Amino acid sequence: MTLKKHQTDSVLIVEPAKLFQEVIQQQLDIARLHGLFVDSLDDALMLERLDDFKLVCIAEQLDTELSALALNRLRSELNDSMPILLITASSESDVVKQALLAGATEVINRSRLQEMQIYLADVAKKTSRSRSRSARILYVEDSEAVSGMTQAVLKSEGYDVVCFNCAEDAVAIFIEQTFDLVITDILLEGPMTGIGLIRHIRSLPPPDNQIPILAVSGLARASQKIEALRQGATEFIEKPVLNEELMVRVRNLLKAKNLQDKVTEQEQMLRTMAVTDPLTGLFNRHYLADIATRRIKEAQRKNTPLSLIVLDIDLFKKINDIYGHLIGDAVLKRIGKLLLTSCRDEDFGVRFGGEEFILVLPNCRLSDALKRAEEIRLKIEQLKPEGLTVTGSFGVAALDVGAHSSSFSELFNAADQAVYESKQNGRNRVSKAG
Ligand code: GH3
Ligand code: MG
Ligand code: MG
Ligand code: MG
Repeated sequence: MTLKKHQTDSVLIVEPAKLFQEVIQQQLDIARLHGLFVDSLDDALMLERLDDFKLVCIAEQLDTELSALALNRLRSELNDSMPILLITASSESDVVKQALLAGATEVINRSRLQEMQIYLADVAKKTSRSRSRSARILYVEDSEAVSGMTQAVLKSEGYDVVCFNCAEDAVAIFIEQTFDLVITDILLEGPMTGIGLIRHIRSLPPPDNQIPILAVSGLARASQKIEALRQGATEFIEKPVLNEELMVRVRNLLKAKNLQDKVTEQEQMLRTMAVTDPLTGLFNRHYLADIATRRIKEAQRKNTPLSLIVLDIDLFKKINDIYGHLIGDAVLKRIGKLLLTSCRDEDFGVRFGGEEFILVLPNCRLSDALKRAEEIRLKIEQLKPEGLTVTGSFGVAALDVGAHSSSFSELFNAADQAVYESKQNGRNRVSKAG
């Protein structure tokens, strides 16, 4: 067997059967990953630099005991962070448990190819993310000698370094560009010190103020060190700095930042989920009271108009009764999409309840809101979601310019009353409140 040179974005696959090799190859192709196939675990263990792989995948069918032994052996050869994926034909929970205990990171059943696809896509994503952009470091140091040496070390580690000798220039570029870490000396060219730079960065709005900052200085007085940390330096090291120490600290700070970024990303996702209606992608009712109240206050403060369109789908129960709930859902989804595309940047489209929707339209007078409601009414009538004719009844109300007492619920009740009138007058029409 000839072993190709490892590629750092490859997956190592232990699988003797040509047929299943092809199946896996197809999946790797979709995920845009390279694969290196070996016939047995012994062959795999003969490879050098196993840790260069992104993933080791064992598809070879071994009995439970053998597979536990083999996994143990493989795990001992690999870095702890290296994922090992076991593909098994067995569906016994015991096999899964044994494999995980023996060092597998994940166990997927052969019959669940889609799960494998998702897993590989995730591996590919991690690979491309780490490859797509090396960490960017903003480095501020006025001594040319120190700066030159440090830059060389950082660049040799693959970091992208932008360097200045005064804090003012660093501030200017920090506003324009994105960095992952700031390393700053304390005494610098120009009036602003490194401590000033730290204070400035920490006073910025998030996420800019959350960047890790490593302060480096020859001023070893405890008070200066404490001041740097008090102003928000993440860490402080004294000059002269050992290259090894600098590298370890940089790596740790970047790792922490990476984790923080992931948490922030997840929080953002949760926040979005909390205010979004999953079926239509519009805002949900929970968010409506909050946003509408704020927009109404703003309109009253600035003396600008604001309108509300309430829309209720006509005889929707019939659609469910005749075509089923799934078709009903699909119809709602299409209407949600239509409303979403009918919103200008400042508008808010909300799914208020089952088949009721609200559009909050800041800077929109009653006459314009009536026109927009009429346009949307027509678009829904022509939409024919799922091939069905669907219509809606609309109610429109506006905040009186100069009125300071209208609350959201008053405005909503007025628009809702107008919807009722539309229903009374034969549905598929727009009525004005009041
Ligand atoms: P009207 O013209 O008077 O508004 O008649 P309607 O049938 O639309 O009104 P009604 O309020 O009696 O019924 C609304 C129906 O909407 C009842 C409910 O089954 C359906 N519905 C509510 N939420 C959902 C949903 O999320 N999916 C589906 N498929 N149907 C829903
Ligand atoms: Mg200096
Ligand atoms: Mg209704
Ligand atoms: Mg209805």
